[in-house]
Amino acid sequence: MSDLIRLLPENVANQIAAGEVVQRPASVVKELLENSVDAKATKITLIIKDAGRLLIQVIDNGKGMSETDARLSFERHATSKINSAEDLFNINTFGFRGEALASIAAVSQVEMKTKREDDELGTKIIIEGSKLISQEECTCDVGTSISVKNLFFNIPVRRNFLKSNTQELKLIVEEFFKVALINPNIHFVVYNNDTLLHDILPENFKQRIVNLINKSYKEKLIPLEIEIENVKISGFISKPEHAKKSRSDQYFFVNNRFVRHSYLKHAIESSFQDILPADMYPMFFIKIDIAPELIDVNIHPTKTEINFQDARTLYSILKSGIKKAFGTFSIQIPSFDFSTNDVFNPNEVIKDRPIVPPSIKLNPNYDPFDGFSNVKHKSEGNSNWQEFYSDLNEQFKDIFNGDNESVELNQHSTIDDFIDQKDELNFGETFIQFKNKYIIGTIDKGIIIIDQQRAHERILFEEYMEKLNEKSPASQLDMFPETITVNFDEALILDENKELFESIGFMYEKLGKTNYVINSHPEDISTDEIKDFFETVIANLKLETGRVVNNRHKAIAKSMANKTKIRENTVLHNLEMRNITEKLFKCKTSDVDLNGNPTYAIIDMDAVANIL
Ligand code: ADP
Ligand code: MG
Repeated sequence: MSDLIRLLPENVANQIAAGEVVQRPASVVKELLENSVDAKATKITLIIKDAGRLLIQVIDNGKGMSETDARLSFERHATSKINSAEDLFNINTFGFRGEALASIAAVSQVEMKTKREDDELGTKIIIEGSKLISQEECTCDVGTSISVKNLFFNIPVRRNFLKSNTQELKLIVEEFFKVALINPNIHFVVYNNDTLLHDILPENFKQRIVNLINKSYKEKLIPLEIEIENVKISGFISKPEHAKKSRSDQYFFVNNRFVRHSYLKHAIESSFQDILPADMYPMFFIKIDIAPELIDVNIHPTKTEINFQDARTLYSILKSGIKKAFGTFSIQIPSFDFSTNDVFNPNEVIKDRPIVPPSIKLNPNYDPFDGFSNVKHKSEGNSNWQEFYSDLNEQFKDIFNGDNESVELNQHSTIDDFIDQKDELNFGETFIQFKNKYIIGTIDKGIIIIDQQRAHERILFEEYMEKLNEKSPASQLDMFPETITVNFDEALILDENKELFESIGFMYEKLGKTNYVINSHPEDISTDEIKDFFETVIANLKLETGRVVNNRHKAIAKSMANKTKIRENTVLHNLEMRNITEKLFKCKTSDVDLNGNPTYAIIDMDAVANIL
């Protein structure tokens, strides 16, 4: 029998490698901009046409390349930034693998012009799909200009996979922001389809944030400055009242490069935890300068993930630094409920504060998870909010025709004791929604007020707990699987809980020591949210240091419920309100949400009579 193994041709190998580095136009923008920064440019121009499909050009006035270097720069593993294997572990050169230009040239048509200061003539090179078309001398300015045309011209599948122009452009701008923010001393010019988007002169870090991202941030940020041996943390965080509903404008830079770090992000967000509602997020622009030996470099193709040797210490330094910054800028930690307002306004909050019903006893020793392990109510199978109601008409008939036999009550909780007889839960026909936040209904005993978001989170939590126990995932295969890179300790968490993740619909494979390819994800979570979900769930699992399996179930179910619960201010119809009410009272624990806040309150007849 003949031998079967063959070496892949170089251009095919390059295309495969390109899959890691060049996912979309934004990845090209990131690599080219970073190269220009590395070449010590003081002015960088970025030109985009057709959201990067047609052209991505970066022109810099950096140090340029010799004729030989110009040609070599397109070879795989060709880099001027690493001399020895040890350099790989030096933060200042972290991630340099000499792969970017080779990868870009494998999947596009590239034209490069480059000249060093002392050279009379420059070099012009044209490469298409890894193939050298021409190399000649040329007249050009000092520095380097690289044009990347017709990205993925030779891989139509990838080209088809690109999102809309608006979305691709948004991603490009995000990459540009990451580089431009941390290099405020560089003059940046950006054109999109011949329209000037930015022309931004050298300035300081705060000015750059304000001028680049949002002029109003000038008043919204407070400085952060912490210095200890070998580590300096500086930058800005948003004042709590300027928190946002999304996690945009959260930036970490380590030794002048943008990185992701879910654990440190958790340190910041948790510092705001007591003062912000659950789905509001602080903005931050944090620079960490740290001695290279205190970082474990985890070589990732896109160079955005790193590990700190002592992340725990950094975590607590960051937290205490933020507390101090709050103190210095006399930010009060208020004790009232923010959740009714988009933007914090004390007067309005106080005005809108709900009246506390008189006859509720709260158990101070509540454990929202108490008594969970034996939950066995029928799983509805779909907790997606849209589908949540699809079979509602049917349920409606069965449940609300005065026959409440199917409603199970939790015997243990104090509020539930209040209505411990099933027939007292006779809900009236109609529900009213108040402030898009509360469901108000009538029962025999009086009036019931349900916090719709808390109730929904509780319902989902119990459904996910059920799934974790029953292993009946509803998942969706990812056509282009996401790869995530985690810290070493996080990898342990993912390995240990692989089966649990599978039971809620996440399937992943390990690649190397700390990379994971996510092949499928639960239907309730959109593709865009996968990474974010993992960050949250890992952070939650990290806090769960014990070995108790059920606690891990809770950590995962809690993260899922939190991610998939209805958004604030959701308008509900009568049937939807009924469904939430009914499901809430089927929960094992129906009286508190996952943070121990009451899900509902009852104003009984006596109280009503007292008022009137
Ligand atoms: P890396 O940045 O990891 O070294 P790249 O493929 O991005 O790998 O670049 C390869 C080499 O090409 C760089 O190490 C550098 O020497 C050279 N190079 C790339 N872009 C520029 C530029 N804009 N100016 C000067 N040299 C550059
Ligand atoms: Mg590079």
